[in-house]
Amino acid sequence: MICGRSVAEFLQEIEKFHGYLAPGLVLGGFMVDRALELIGPGVEADAIVETRYCLPDAVQLFTPCTYGNGWMKVVDWDKFALTLYDRHNLNGYRVWLDLTSTRSFPNLYNWYMQRVPKHDLPLEVLNQTIFEAGRSVLSSRAIRLTDLFQRSKKGPIAVCPRCGEAYPTRQGDRCRACQGNGYYAPR
Ligand SMILES: [Zn+2]
Repeated sequence: MICGRSVAEFLQEIEKFHGYLAPGLVLGGFMVDRALELIGPGVEADAIVETRYCLPDAVQLFTPCTYGNGWMKVVDWDKFALTLYDRHNLNGYRVWLDLTSTRSFPNLYNWYMQRVPKHDLPLEVLNQTIFEAGRSVLSSRAIRLTDLFQRSKKGPIAVCPRCGEAYPTRQGDRCRACQGNGYYAPR
């Protein structure tokens, strides 16, 4: 069992959600599984993920925390690590990929350290290695949150005088796009 699922279900859900069996997501599943076990049942856990790549999807798939509900925060540090913590007392566990241990699994080490071109290491082979490695390549530590634990609240809303769309007043007297800081142009 992994994240409360059979291996087949685990892999099926990853493929359905993410589009393919991304090794980072398979590995991430093992990390979430470990963090869930450490924090124990019955805890309302929020999550911090330390990379934008793959790992947020593992948290969204295998915990109730999603980007949209605000229970998962993603910091763009590109470190393969995540934390689950009790949002009431801020105590939690950080789980990370222990690079030293991955040296016993050259496929895993070479993949993570970008030492091998993608086409030289087929997905099935790498995922097989990840299953062999499992938790043996993960480290964990009990931690207490010192930052990023606040759930962000929506501020006051107004109607933009230029485009007529609702926008947060903290952006100023017009919306971000109408101030020329948008990401699109009419065509
Ligand atoms: Zn506007």
